[in-house]
Amino acid sequence: MVALRADMDALPVAEQTGLPFASKATATFAGRNVPVMHACGHDAHVAMLMGAAEILAGMKDRIAGTVVLVFQPAEEGPPVGEKGGAPLMVAERALAAPKPDAIFGLHVFPGEVGSLVWRSGPFMAGSDTWEMTVTGRQTHGAMPWNGVDAASVSASIVQAFNQIAARQLNVAHAPTVLTVGEIRLGTRHNIIPGTFEMTGTLRTFDPAMRTDVMARIDGALKAIGAQYGAGIALRWVGRNAVTANDPALARAMEPTLARAAGAGVRGDADYVMGAEDFSAFAAVAPTMFYHLGIGADAAPNHSPQFTVDEAALPVGVRAHVLTALDFLNGAGAAPAQAK
Ligand SMILES: [Zn+2]
Ligand SMILES: [Zn+2]
Repeated sequence: MVALRADMDALPVAEQTGLPFASKATATFAGRNVPVMHACGHDAHVAMLMGAAEILAGMKDRIAGTVVLVFQPAEEGPPVGEKGGAPLMVAERALAAPKPDAIFGLHVFPGEVGSLVWRSGPFMAGSDTWEMTVTGRQTHGAMPWNGVDAASVSASIVQAFNQIAARQLNVAHAPTVLTVGEIRLGTRHNIIPGTFEMTGTLRTFDPAMRTDVMARIDGALKAIGAQYGAGIALRWVGRNAVTANDPALARAMEPTLARAAGAGVRGDADYVMGAEDFSAFAAVAPTMFYHLGIGADAAPNHSPQFTVDEAALPVGVRAHVLTALDFLNGAGAAPAQAK
């Protein structure tokens, strides 16, 4: 049995592609009304797995096993305080019976249209999502000395975090990124804000470096809190493990992906700092995850200009179908024999 996975969710981004079918959808996210866009290409993932479903269903009697199609919600992370995504599917035993012997997945990324790219072993970073609440003291915009200026505190935190990632870690050992993604601060030009909320993400490959960054964050926040007299509370609220490709499976599937590709094939890609909750499926079976190029000049994933060159879609369909068929026909099913 083999499983193929596509994720389905979108992002709170206002689409600016100018496409005739650009999203106009809105939804409620974290208590706010937000625009909704497939800024990570998960709509393309669904389309490609539907295409693979049609082909595989049409040749059912010639398939040497079972193919399970996994349409997964909430890859970008469930709402705060909820469970979701791949970890919840695994916890709810969605793939427990019957249990697949291998799980494949792909993601669209900027790159030569139709190229297929992966890396044996660790491929995509582990991610840790954090949220922070900072409490200073609100005061009049003309009299900062009467308060604790949350805007200044936020500037110091951003600067300290950039210092940690860029100046205190041996990035030659393993890449690490610490990002502030959101600051919610202030209401009016003449009010010095007393509180704010900040969120962000930490990306790591090395477990010891991950622990080290978390300790450095803690130290920086204690120092900044003391310096300003502000209360700072940081919470780690979500985690994806490193997405790693099973080396034997990756080796066995190299000829398959070379056949499927419409352009360059590369099995020794650079590390990718993007994260994937696909990593959770590694608890079920050996996994392999690869990237499909959707345009060398494509805007980055999560950008309001992100688009998919549709010439890449047949390549993704072919890759899904061929990885499933070749695996069921014995490629990568047994451990490589030692000689
Ligand atoms: Zn994404
Ligand atoms: Zn994505």
